[in-house]
Amino acid sequence: MATKVAFKDVSYTKGGVRVEIEYIGEGFSGDYDPENPEDKPLLRFNVMHRVGREWDQDSDGSFCTQVPATISQEEAKRLARHIWQKAQKPKESLKRTCERLSWITDAEIKSRSSKKDWTMKKTKVMSRDGKLEGVLTGNERSCPMVGCRGTRLGVRWSDGSVTYPCTRGMIGRKYGWKIL
Ligand SMILES: [Zn+2]
Repeated sequence: MATKVAFKDVSYTKGGVRVEIEYIGEGFSGDYDPENPEDKPLLRFNVMHRVGREWDQDSDGSFCTQVPATISQEEAKRLARHIWQKAQKPKESLKRTCERLSWITDAEIKSRSSKKDWTMKKTKVMSRDGKLEGVLTGNERSCPMVGCRGTRLGVRWSDGSVTYPCTRGMIGRKYGWKIL
């Protein structure tokens, strides 16, 4: 049976602009498919403007992110605040700004918000099956995959091998990274 994803909506409101973060069952391609290990339940953000006493949903300000709905409420609030900062006075059109924001990942939210440097040498990494443990080598390069804005981080595994997983394929945990 599919596990249900529980996510409580959060919002950040200031100066007549509100950003809401919600989970409406989306994944990487349409609906989230819990049977597919490559898929993740993804959060959506909505930018709203106050019009009189009402909140008006901006048609250009609603996008699905790369951030999984499994992040903490505190992290979701940081996400809302971050989007608010970019969307309240967009440098480009709101649509373009929000398109860019839709690429945001939980790793970016975590690295931006916490004092911890997620690319720091010796940060712990767990393999997908949890059987192998590794540490970051401190080497990094931008992901060469077309359209990917992730970073490839060098990992030295306990068996001596070195790989460069993409931050887009990992999730931040308290101890460091977990490969998805
Ligand atoms: Zn990548």
